[in-house]
Amino acid sequence: MSLKDFAKSLPHPLKQGLKYAYGAASSRFRYGKVFWDTYNFLQESQWWNREKLEEYQMRLLEKMLNHVYENVAYYQKVFDQSGSKPKNIQDFDDLRKLPYLTKEIIQENLSDLMARNYPKSKLRYGTTGGSTGIPLGFYHEKGVSEAKERAFIITLWHRVNFKMGDRCVVLRGNVVHSANKGKFWEYDPVNKYLILSSYHMTNEILPKYIAKIREFKPDFIQAYPSAITILARFMKKNNIEPFSSVKALLCGSENLYPWQRELLEEVFQCRVYSWYGDAEQAVLAGECEKNTYYHLFPEYGITELIGNDGNEVTKDGEIGEIVATGFNNFATPFIRYKTMDLGVFSSKKCQCGRQYQLLERIEGRLQELIVTKTGRLISMTAINMHSDVFDNIKQFQFYQDKKGEVIFNVVKKNTYTKKDTEYIKRELHKKLGDDMRLEIGFLGHIPRTQTGKYRFLIQKFPIEFGENDKFRKNF
Ligand SMILES: [Zn+2]
Repeated sequence: MSLKDFAKSLPHPLKQGLKYAYGAASSRFRYGKVFWDTYNFLQESQWWNREKLEEYQMRLLEKMLNHVYENVAYYQKVFDQSGSKPKNIQDFDDLRKLPYLTKEIIQENLSDLMARNYPKSKLRYGTTGGSTGIPLGFYHEKGVSEAKERAFIITLWHRVNFKMGDRCVVLRGNVVHSANKGKFWEYDPVNKYLILSSYHMTNEILPKYIAKIREFKPDFIQAYPSAITILARFMKKNNIEPFSSVKALLCGSENLYPWQRELLEEVFQCRVYSWYGDAEQAVLAGECEKNTYYHLFPEYGITELIGNDGNEVTKDGEIGEIVATGFNNFATPFIRYKTMDLGVFSSKKCQCGRQYQLLERIEGRLQELIVTKTGRLISMTAINMHSDVFDNIKQFQFYQDKKGEVIFNVVKKNTYTKKDTEYIKRELHKKLGDDMRLEIGFLGHIPRTQTGKYRFLIQKFPIEFGENDKFRKNF
């Protein structure tokens, strides 16, 4: 009997135990040196002055440009067509001479964007649709990208006193397989995470969540803003006491709106901490101990804020598109990547002492919800699965004008077949649940909004959401 077959033959609890032991060993191996090198570096670099940080950025940029000129067909073409060489890019102004990388270009040129000195066996395929409705596939360096990302995220969380090994409740769009049998959470002993299903947050079931969280005594709650908002609204309506052990809510992957922050602070009576990043790993920013402005990590990449007129935004309060050059992905390098997220510029220096560029807030990534027949609210970020389901479609957009019914409109790629329709229906059904009717529609084109963004959901159905008025006022 092979080791694999032996493992398979074990009863469930033992199998789980083995899985966790393997997970612990492999994550230590995978996150080992790269994680600690990045982590230790960040503990120092975050206190560097602007000059030293910019020097560091230019060094990394030079390394990245030499790499792409040598190894990435797409960028060789870009340089050759312009008659330029990496050595001609000497400062941030020179960088702006390079063309933008759009999501459409990535969709159509992925193989030319992959570095040829990275064998496929060393790569991990990642996908994202983000809030933009344009699904993207790209590659990360296996182990390395995750380890670096983790080091940056933990460095962010330190700002609100998170320590490695702290107990966390996780409410971030996870599917919990035992939920169908009435167990709406699972425990991950390696990370000390209590992972809650994001798909069963009804008035009937939420009291069980609350009792379980109280029993678990978490130090932190990691959450999608839309998911934790559902819990907060329920707790507020029923006058439920906050969880006294929780030091902060760690909110990421969706924009956190002022009205959500207010509600969450009121209900949970603790710091609501938010960060902004993308699956493409080109940009990362987070709040600090002192305020809620987003501090852009210069160690992560070079971030530009480009206004409607194509020029860099330099005035306080002005909105621009976040354009990012990432240092952490040499496998599919993103240089001057148009994220389609909008940020608000700030020239302030923060009291925390870090000399990072600040964004007053992130304007894009609108939080949107689908309403099921029984009144469950499903967050768009939860629907946006990081999988290959959307590989053969160019764009997608949900459309809802009736409770319990939603149309999933897609713009097909040439490679799209009937099988994709079945696959999409099957996968979305898992996420949406039985109280939701789903139709697939086909469009030739999905128009942008006035601000140039794609909306992930057109929600015509009036959602009963008291804070919505506040939301409209704020934006
Ligand atoms: Zn600060």
